[in-house]
This record gives sequence, structure tokens and C-alpha cells, in this order.
Amino acid sequence: MPDSLIKNYINGEWVASGSQQTGDIWNPATGTKIATVPYSDRNDVDMAVAAAREAYPEWRATPPLTRARYLFRLKEAFEEQFEDIARTLTTEHGKAIDEARGEVRRMIENVEHATGVTTLMCGYTLEDIAKGIDCYGHRQPMGVFAAIAPYNFPAMVPWWFLPYALVAGNTFVLKPSEQVPMTQTKVFDIIDEIGFPEGVVNMVHGSRDVVNALLDHPDIEGISFVGSTPTAKYIYKRCGETGKRVQALGGAKNIVAIMPDADLKAAMPSLVTSFFGCTGQRCLSGSILVPVGDVADRLRDEFIAAAREMKVGDGLDEQTFMGPLISAAHRERVLGYIEKGIAEGAELVLDGRDYTDPERPGGFFVGPTVFDRVTPDMTIAREEIFGPVVSIVRAPDLDAVVDLVNSRGFANAACLYTASGAVARDFKYRVKPSMIGINIGIAAPMSFFPFGGAGNSMFGDIKGHGQEIFQFFTDTKVVIERWF
Ligand code: NAD
Repeated sequence: MPDSLIKNYINGEWVASGSQQTGDIWNPATGTKIATVPYSDRNDVDMAVAAAREAYPEWRATPPLTRARYLFRLKEAFEEQFEDIARTLTTEHGKAIDEARGEVRRMIENVEHATGVTTLMCGYTLEDIAKGIDCYGHRQPMGVFAAIAPYNFPAMVPWWFLPYALVAGNTFVLKPSEQVPMTQTKVFDIIDEIGFPEGVVNMVHGSRDVVNALLDHPDIEGISFVGSTPTAKYIYKRCGETGKRVQALGGAKNIVAIMPDADLKAAMPSLVTSFFGCTGQRCLSGSILVPVGDVADRLRDEFIAAAREMKVGDGLDEQTFMGPLISAAHRERVLGYIEKGIAEGAELVLDGRDYTDPERPGGFFVGPTVFDRVTPDMTIAREEIFGPVVSIVRAPDLDAVVDLVNSRGFANAACLYTASGAVARDFKYRVKPSMIGINIGIAAPMSFFPFGGAGNSMFGDIKGHGQEIFQFFTDTKVVIERWF
């Protein structure tokens, strides 16, 4: 693939950023440069927001079903170019091609769900709230919304927000992660083919300057953010200062616990996927594996054996289960955590530090890594590593599991494997995280349920997609009415 300078999409056209600052985009499997992303500036953001603002009145007055028809067309076009989108995604991100396909499927599901606008956006009415007086509340779009996305799901995450904002009658500016700009560039090529009215949907590439310009802009009504906890906190605070609506989804430290009665054989494929799928770079990835009671040694041995079986390599190879990490810098960060685990006394029972692919010596690979006898206070049990590094923390009983889950600060997801409905209920009832898997290793809500955590994993109250998302993208206007 030739190296090319990526453009912004503003007012229905591809336009070069006015900024001279750029970043390099890599194929993480080979370590070669494949594109250049502009680090756009305030002027680029101003142009995109002005276009979105200009387009808003007419788009708002377009009937919801007509707005939904653009999404129906988009869905068909996405299906036709499904494989192209998935391959672009793997090329710039590194994840295994089958995972990329799964991600594109989840992106499309959000388009499908958003087409239900004529039901999902309805308000409500009550006659006779007092004698001869009726009351109704209807949901109105508000103006221009923006989303700021992370690198780990280049296709899906922006679409937790974009189709809902648009179909509700708002206009939109997207800022993808500067590490993976190519997937949404491909997606916006399709948007361009469908021919949305000019200015309804815009994309500005870049980094912090774009984010700060969006946060400062008086014509932006609300921000949807997904990324790490420090950035999520920053976005939440700034939106408070500037009076914007905000949903800010942050990082995670997810625990997957195995009760002694769990069916280990049935569980193993989903355990391996939980910890090593997407090379551990999911906000729903398992990070701490907790065997309860006497299952510990057997679980560790079988888990390590399954991890050794995985094929690590270029995500474009159909046989690959686990690809590289996103960048050389992130690889160094993950290796640093492994060194910390060793220094703090955890037992390294599977060491992925020296993994190299002989055909791709420049790839950003780390092999599957497992620590046993990790204690809850160790750095590797407290901080988000976001790589293929598993900490086994042994627990005597369910109470210890619940304490461990509820003491992490992060509260995104938690999973339990058991044969007992009563134990599962106790777990679901007592743990803080908002996405729970029972005999499931990745507790990922589909587009028609809300996605997001609690504690340090989410700031704001309305989560991604689900029915509630229409509340985020609309104001409920209440009319109290009497006629003489
Ligand atoms: P990140 O916070 O580094 O970046 C996210 C976005 O914020 C990017 O678009 C980036 O340009 C911007 N950004 C980064 N630093 C900034 C700063 N100082 N000021 C302004 N903008 C800034 O996150 P990432 O590394 O791209 O993504 C990985 C993180 O996202 C992990 O912590 C992961 O858990 C989290 N994540 C969470 C969810 C969820 O649903 N809670 C989903 C996916 C990813």
C-alpha cells in the first residue's frame, strides 16, 4: 500500500488539513509506514463545525424516516464493502482478520439499530394532568455533536454514536484515533458515495489540538468520548466547564473468575479469547484470572497449554489468532509492565517477551504472557496493561472475588464461570462493574443494549448505544397545554 496523506471530510468533500503537523501510520505486523495522518488544527475544526451548523436546520426538519433511509442505504453499502473495511482495519491496527470482521459486523449492527428511530425517538403523552390540561414530552435534536474515539476498535466505536446522533436529527463531527485513521477514511468514502446532504456528517483527523478545539467550540452541544481513564476524566471536566453534554467511557481492569464447579473444557476457548483476543487491547478483555479454591493449578496448566497453541502473527493471515500490539511505543509499555511484575515478585509462568516473527522482524509483537501468584496490590493487578499479559490471583471463595472486583477502581466488566445459578446471582448482585458475563469471557452488550461501565471506567450517565442513547442526542421538550 503506498504511503498517502489522509484528508479530512468537511461539508461533503475531502479536504487537506491546513496544518503542517503530521503523524506516521504503521502496519503493526511489519513495522512499516503505510500512511500519514494530519494533526489538524483549530481552523480545520472550525470549518467542520461551521458546515455541521449550517446543515442542521434542514436536516432537523427532514422526517425521521427519511433520515433513516440514508442509514438503510449505508447498511447495504457497508455489506458490499465489508471485506475491504475489515482488511483496512487489520492492516492499520493489527488485529486478526476474523476479529476485524466481527468488529465491522458490530459497526453495522449499530446502523441497523438506529434505523428504529421512529419507535426509539418517540416521546410520551398524558391527558388531564389537571382538569382540561394535557401534557406531552417530545424529543428534539439539539444541533452539532462530536465523538472522539480510541485506537482499539477503529470501525465500531465511532458507530456507537454517529448513526444515532444523525438519525435523531443532529449533525456530526468525528475525530478518529490518530493511530488508526484509515478505517474511518474508508467508511467515509462510503458515506460520500451515499451522498448525505453536505455538512451533515464530517470528520477531522488529528490529536489533542482537535480534541481541545472541539471541547472549546461554543457550537458543539455534546461530546461522546471513548478512551483511557485519564483522558476520559479530562474530557468530562472540560465539558462541565463549557456546559456540554458528555458521555466519557474510560479504561478497565477486568476480572474473570472460575469457580471450582465450572466446566473448564467448555470454558477454555472463551477464556483464551477473553485474555488474548485483540492482543488484550479491548476494554472488555480479561486482565486478572481468578481461580477459586482447588481449581487453581489445573486452570493454570490448561490455560497455559491453550495459550501456547495460539498462532501469533500477521492478522491478515487467516490462521492467526493473536496479532501484534498497536505500536512500538505500546510494546515497550507492555514489556515494562512485565518487568514490573517480575520485580514485584509475581511468578512468570509463560513469558512472551522474546516472541518474534522470523518473517516480520519489525512487527510490534509480544507473545502471550502469564503471571501466577499475583497479589492484589501489585502494579500488574492494579493498572490497565492493555496487552496479552495475564495475572492469576488465587482466591479462597466468592467473597474474596467480589472484594477483588470491587477494589480495583475501574468497574467496566466482570465475568464468572460456574455451574451454580445461586452463585452467579450472588456475583451479579454484588459486583460494581456494569457489564457482566456468566460463563461468557467478553461481556459485550450488542447495539440494542447500553455499553459502558461504572467507577473509573465511565464518567457521565448515559452509556454508548442501547435505547438510552436517544436521550443523549435529544432534549425532551415538555408542553403543558390548555385550550379555552
Ligand atoms: P487515549 O485516551 O489515549 O485516546 C483516546 C482519544 O483521546 C484519541 O482520539 C486521542 O487523540 C485523544 N487524546 C488522547 N490523549 C489526549 C489528551 N491528553 N488530551 C486530549 N485528547 C487526548 O486512549 P487509546 O489509547 O486510544 O485507547 C485505549 C483506551 O481506551 C484504553 O484505556 C481502553 O480501556 C479504552 N477503551 C474503553 C472503552 C469503553 O467502552 N470503556 C472502549 C474502548 C477503549
